[in-house]
Amino acid sequence: MSPVQGRECGGLVSSLPTIYKRPFPLVPRMSDIVARADRALSRDLCDHCLGRLFALVDTGLTNRERGESIRMAVGLVRSLKGDAPPTHNTCWLCVNIFDSVPRFAEAVMKELSKVEFGTFLIGSRVDPEIQEREERLWSELGGETAEPIKGELNREIGKIVESSVGRPVEFGAPDVVALVDTRFASVELDVTPLFVYGRYRKFVRDIPQTRWPCRMCRGKGCKRCHFTGKMYETSVQEIVGDPIMREAGGSDHFFHGMGREDIDARMLGNGRPFVVEIREPRRRSIDLPLIERRVNDEGKGRVEVIGLRVSSREEVRQIKSASPSKVYRVEIAINGKVNKEKINEVLQSFKRTRITQQTPVRVSHRRADLARERMIIDTEMVGFDDPLLTLVIKTEAGTYVKEFVHGDNGRTNPSLSGALGVPCEVKSLDVIDIADDTGDE
Ligand SMILES: [Zn+2]
Ligand SMILES: [Zn+2]
Repeated sequence: MSPVQGRECGGLVSSLPTIYKRPFPLVPRMSDIVARADRALSRDLCDHCLGRLFALVDTGLTNRERGESIRMAVGLVRSLKGDAPPTHNTCWLCVNIFDSVPRFAEAVMKELSKVEFGTFLIGSRVDPEIQEREERLWSELGGETAEPIKGELNREIGKIVESSVGRPVEFGAPDVVALVDTRFASVELDVTPLFVYGRYRKFVRDIPQTRWPCRMCRGKGCKRCHFTGKMYETSVQEIVGDPIMREAGGSDHFFHGMGREDIDARMLGNGRPFVVEIREPRRRSIDLPLIERRVNDEGKGRVEVIGLRVSSREEVRQIKSASPSKVYRVEIAINGKVNKEKINEVLQSFKRTRITQQTPVRVSHRRADLARERMIIDTEMVGFDDPLLTLVIKTEAGTYVKEFVHGDNGRTNPSLSGALGVPCEVKSLDVIDIADDTGDE
């Protein structure tokens, strides 16, 4: 057994700072630490890389401080044996990368100055050779108390940036992640999207909810789409998303609606909840009431939004998974002889009734063909001017209302047309209420 291992070191240990004597069962004895450090220092290591080997032994110090103390201990042990103390010029492991931490922080702050953020996080890339050397050291000396070099770099850069910009590092959901490539001191920003919640109403029957690329050219622009790249001139997404994106200085927007209505259906009542996602926003604190007025001016007579406020990715998940019941107003042309009494009798029979719907023919090109059960919760006649019948129908989420009315050649069963015994044609459809319980505090 060499003198630096085992009990021979007992006297030395008692002379060391108290942190190295802390009784902690998972932690190696001081003598083992010094022995491992002594072996590690057969190579030139900086205090950071030395201290990082024992990062999990004690969390009250920086790696550099810990490395400095351990180096002193190794120096003492070596001097007792008449050996020279460890020297340090260029770290074998990191090539003195930590000298560049202030430069990395500068580069981060330069990039961060281009965007607005409340919280941030640092990530880093290091030369693969550095990581290989670190792993080699761990496999030689044991890495169970070590911290990877990226962890220390991220933290040290983060500390400087944090105190300079006066905004905190955030691990959970930072507004921006600054990724430092330490080989070139270059920085890439990953800016968290800006999410804006609201409800929209749509008063026209010729625009879709979301941007719809041209089928012929897939958005590139062709004769068919008059070189717009789009099937429809505009959409709720564009009417709402474009002004928000302009204000936020983003690069693109995405629209997450709580379901969607058909292009030819109006969306009335309280409106439909949605979240607009703005990619790569340069500004986050935007004047939403002002934007709301602007959207409503530009969208006048077509689309209106209410209650714009800042939202989150979590709320997008809630909106996408919500399954609210809906209330529709539907105008129906009845092609045959029925009287009011018969209609009322049939409507009565549909209260809280389950129907089976095979995927409608009109959507079968994009949806799997399957049968699903849905409930017709309530139906009410609000007008009958033969042959025009106007109903208010409340249904469970996911019901195909047009198909419930006309029967879709027997693919929806029972249906209104089937029960009345005459063909029924949907003349117009409006969503007049979405019974969601999310979003509005
Ligand atoms: Zn080093
Ligand atoms: Zn086209």
